[in-house]
Amino acid sequence: MKNKAAYCTGLEKMEIDDAPMPVCGDEDVLIEVAYCGVCGSDAHWYANGEAGFEDVYPYILGHEFTGVVIETGSEVSNLKIGDRVVVEPGKTCGKCKWCKEGRYNLCPDIRFLSAPREQGAMQKYVAHPASLCYKLPENVSLKTGALIEPFAVGLHAVETAEVTPGKTVAILGCGCIGLCVLMASKLYHAAKVIMLDVFEEKLQTALAFGADAVIHSKNEDAAARVMELTDGMGADIVFEAAGTPVTTAMTEKLVMRGGVITLIGCTHGETPFEFYHIIEKEVAIKPIFRYRNNYQTAIKALEGGRVELDRLITGEYTLEQAKEAFDTALYGKQDNIKVMVKIKDE
Ligand SMILES: [Zn+2]
Ligand SMILES: [Zn+2]
Repeated sequence: MKNKAAYCTGLEKMEIDDAPMPVCGDEDVLIEVAYCGVCGSDAHWYANGEAGFEDVYPYILGHEFTGVVIETGSEVSNLKIGDRVVVEPGKTCGKCKWCKEGRYNLCPDIRFLSAPREQGAMQKYVAHPASLCYKLPENVSLKTGALIEPFAVGLHAVETAEVTPGKTVAILGCGCIGLCVLMASKLYHAAKVIMLDVFEEKLQTALAFGADAVIHSKNEDAAARVMELTDGMGADIVFEAAGTPVTTAMTEKLVMRGGVITLIGCTHGETPFEFYHIIEKEVAIKPIFRYRNNYQTAIKALEGGRVELDRLITGEYTLEQAKEAFDTALYGKQDNIKVMVKIKDE
């Protein structure tokens, strides 16, 4: 067996090269990777890198992946050779306060694949703790399974914000994560989902995915339109899934008195936020970071045909075409949602 990887070798540079064969530890499984999606964070890293990690190259990106178990460590009992699995990419310490409380996404020692300095999954073989690998049901393909990771973000967001039947939801940003929040909100029986973006193509996509109303937040008065659509009350829950200071600042204008704002996007930089509106409206701000304990729900929802995640895939490339895949994720048209890299046939 020979390993091969797509190495990011600098800003917007990608090279396919031989890679060391991962070692399967006692509690690990060795996975032959099948599909790996390009995450917004991967594309961001590919384009911009990160301060403090200028020396990390050659670096392997990718963390949204599935594959087939080809070797099991001596301590592994939950999986066997031939199992098709989806992988939770964050390796936690299991010992800290947050791990013990089950809030393991907050583990300060988490090693998350494709977050520096942990190498990612755009390679033919990955060794990973078996406890973080979940068997896929027979009716879920390896390709669709690779979307469980971003969908887990949507589930963690709606569970944190407590979307329940009857609630009205507003989502800022109609990219992959915004659409995952839309699908998760529908799964939790939100009464109405309003989606906002500044690109017409993205609003059309949101409608095709079942949004009840869409707002062009540049051409329209977003706050006035949300009030119109909610009998003058505002949305029970506002999700920020665009990751910009402008959309983050907008959340307080769309939310109802006593409502909830959940921040998902990785907003950096100063954000002008009118906190007095949060205080007088007693709004709860509940940010989320990645996800925790959501994979089983995502897998069951897929198995039961309750979500159609495969609709998110708008492009497919081979490992050799990894550069093209990343360029498409970065510069592709606005109707582009999720770019998938096929590393091995099913
Ligand atoms: Zn991701
Ligand atoms: Zn920990």
